[in-house]
Amino acid sequence: MDSKLLDILVCPLCKGPLIYVKSRQELICKADRLAYPIKDGIPVMLEDDARKLAPEEEV
Ligand SMILES: [Zn+2]
Repeated sequence: MDSKLLDILVCPLCKGPLIYVKSRQELICKADRLAYPIKDGIPVMLEDDARKLAPEEEV
């Protein structure tokens, strides 16, 4: 994914920074413990589509 794009992306809920997990193609918000999927290189910044991180999952 374009790193410049990542720089401007924030969590739609808390407006916090996101962590790009290349191996899973996800953008993670630590504060909300949500993982937003990246589909075909395009981040899907929708709460409804985001995956909730399991309590034991490392962020
Ligand atoms: Zn957030």
